[in-house]
Amino acid sequence: DQGLQQTKENFLSKITKAIAGKSTVDEEVLDNLEEALVGADVGIDTTVQIIDRIEKRVAKDKYLNTTELNNILQQEIESMLVDAPSANSYAFDSELPSRPYVIMVVGVNGVGKTTTIGKLAHNFNKAGKNVLLGAADTFRAAAVDQLTIWSERAGVPIVKQDMGSDPAAVAFDTVQSGVSRGSDVILIDTAGRLHNKAHLMEELSKIRRVMQKVIPDAPHEVLLVLDGSTGQNALEQAKHFTAATDVTAIAITKLDGTAKGGVVLAIANQFKIPVKFIGVGEKMEDLLVFNKHEFVDSLFN
Ligand code: GDP
Repeated sequence: DQGLQQTKENFLSKITKAIAGKSTVDEEVLDNLEEALVGADVGIDTTVQIIDRIEKRVAKDKYLNTTELNNILQQEIESMLVDAPSANSYAFDSELPSRPYVIMVVGVNGVGKTTTIGKLAHNFNKAGKNVLLGAADTFRAAAVDQLTIWSERAGVPIVKQDMGSDPAAVAFDTVQSGVSRGSDVILIDTAGRLHNKAHLMEELSKIRRVMQKVIPDAPHEVLLVLDGSTGQNALEQAKHFTAATDVTAIAITKLDGTAKGGVVLAIANQFKIPVKFIGVGEKMEDLLVFNKHEFVDSLFN
């Protein structure tokens, strides 16, 4: 994929270098491979797991050439990525599991949360769905303004209140309005302040509780947005958010401008939460529905 060019080149060249000039997999190849994976931001824990699995295969099959190594590496990496549970996996144009389908979007400021919401709104709208946005990040005036711009771009309505108003009140208004308008999809933006974990947890819980007064099983999805170009920082953020609320899906942004795409593997493996979307640019069209097979394939071929 064009958007993933840099990630791919980086990943592939590191692996190629690790096994260059070698015909069989020995200690040195494994050492080089370990270094290459860490360098591609796969993360220590996930790298150790991958190397472990390959060592076991080498021990079992006695002899392994580097072409076989490449294949095994692809298989092992693919098996580490989690599939979305079927209730949560959908295409933009397929029928959604409930109506309205409420997606609460969480993540730290600057990761591309608003942009991702805009892209999702555009994609759902293009597929013929009625979309409604809720601007529940009321702490920054810029957040509401940005979301308003995206609502205009995507051609979908938005529910907002004054800056500083209660985020839960905005969420409540949004779901209520969505029900009365007959919206198919409701996307709720939330504030991404991480400085106080207890506060974050409390705020997200309150938004949930309030929404559930209108739609008892909302939110149907909690989408965590992470910036793929921040490497291991993204992992730290995932730790905080998964501790604060029940995250059901992940979107990883900015994979176009980075060589750090290995973080996708680290996140998917460590948190066992499906990566559903990847952002590969700033424009409305630059959102891909994540497919683990295609992703791994694009890293290696
Ligand atoms: P928020 O604070 O999390 O809502 O972040 P924004 O949505 O405002 O995005 C922050 C910046 O990242 C903006 O300049 C976006 O254009 C940019 N951005 C968002 N997603 C992507 C992406 O997938 N690729 C690139 N290259 N830039 C992105």
